[in-house]
Amino acid sequence: MGTCEDAQSFYVCAEIFPALSPLGLGVARDPATADAGRVRRSRVIRASMVVTYAQAISIVQERIGQANPRPPVETASLDEVRGRVLAEDVVADRDLPPFHRAIRDGYALRAADLGVIPAVLRCVGEVPAGQHFEGEVDPGQCVSIMTGAPLPVGADAVVMVEHSRSLGEQIEIQRSVQRWENVVLQGSEAALGACVLARGRRLRAAGMGLLAAVGKVRVAVYRQPKVAILPTGDELVAVERRPQWFQIRNSNAVTLSAQVTEAGGVPVQLGIVPDREDALREMIEQGLDSDLLLLSGGVSMGKFDLVEDVLAELGADFFFQGAAIRPGKPLVFGRVRDRFFFGLPGNPVSTFVTFELFVRPAIAMLGGMGFEPPVLLRARLAKPCRQKTGLTMFMPARVCVQNRDPVVELVNWQGSGDLVGTAAANCLLVIHPDQTELAAGDWVDVMPKGQ
Ligand code: AMP
Ligand code: MG
Repeated sequence: MGTCEDAQSFYVCAEIFPALSPLGLGVARDPATADAGRVRRSRVIRASMVVTYAQAISIVQERIGQANPRPPVETASLDEVRGRVLAEDVVADRDLPPFHRAIRDGYALRAADLGVIPAVLRCVGEVPAGQHFEGEVDPGQCVSIMTGAPLPVGADAVVMVEHSRSLGEQIEIQRSVQRWENVVLQGSEAALGACVLARGRRLRAAGMGLLAAVGKVRVAVYRQPKVAILPTGDELVAVERRPQWFQIRNSNAVTLSAQVTEAGGVPVQLGIVPDREDALREMIEQGLDSDLLLLSGGVSMGKFDLVEDVLAELGADFFFQGAAIRPGKPLVFGRVRDRFFFGLPGNPVSTFVTFELFVRPAIAMLGGMGFEPPVLLRARLAKPCRQKTGLTMFMPARVCVQNRDPVVELVNWQGSGDLVGTAAANCLLVIHPDQTELAAGDWVDVMPKGQ
């Protein structure tokens, strides 16, 4: 059993530690290595903690849901709330619309007057938007009305100006209308006091417009979660530096920072940490000051992949250690000292994809929202596709519309290190483990993504 370096021996180790359920929480000590003073605890249980995509998603949802994050509440003004999460229910301060609103330019009239077409009605006034008609529309009368104006008392419909002819004071109406046609009734969008935006909603352009429409110029929002970003790897150099030929620029920190911001978090850059246990320990400790810790790299099976060992030493609970997905299989999720962490595989596309799949919904929950899994849409496959990996695949692809159907095609891609191919994609083609043979034209799942 010795080193526990191959999958078979992982299962053996898991049998020796029966307290570790497949989704077990604890960490085990590998007796073979403990004596030597080397900590390899997390790897012992790794194989039994590889979960499917669906399991991984629900573990993230359950674990963070159980922790019941209640971020502090702060007040923000309308121009500060884009992307923020509402911490209060917002109610309509008056009926929406506040009056029966004409939605066409034309004539306000009584629908019952149009029993015989054409009908001739007497025009008794005009009402532009921003004004109101003082009198009442009696039978046989109409009022010239503009879009956005309140319907005069007595009228119950609007006929579009295109269906009328002016005969001086008389107007010929050439089409009949139903009652309330071309009118939106007072309060039909929302009645005074009704909730128009619920707590937990993220504010985007339309929501912000709605806040403005109900006069809510200051609003309670949740504090945004701070998300620490910790790239690991001896080969990494800061992007400002010129790398030697065997070094790699730290692009993940930039990708992750943009993703964290988009997801509603505040990125906290901790800088590059080398593959050394003491340095890792120190930086992980720092990362625990944030609400969520994202590590990139160091979670594979290489000799210098030390992230899980150091986390285990710090007393981490691992909720899963590996997901049956590609890219991103070595992904790790857990908690240490009341802080959740993700160990994201360092390959740039693995980092990007695992963030989209698991970290984005996690940040939303830590920021006061409910759980929202990634949305899958359907498209037709451009070319046949085979896979026998048994994994759920998330392949960079482009979707476009051909003959009115969305059609998806894989981009030219060299694997999970290939940011060039990934940056050219506008979606991820999702291939489920049972989809071993797919023909051109088959409907498949795609996950939209930013570029
Ligand atoms: P690891 O997960 O540490 O085994 O790294 C896998 C691959 O991703 C290696 O080729 C690394 O050089 C690369 N990589 C790791 N971290 C980063 C990073 N921060 N930026 C860009 N590439 C990275
Ligand atoms: Mg590494």
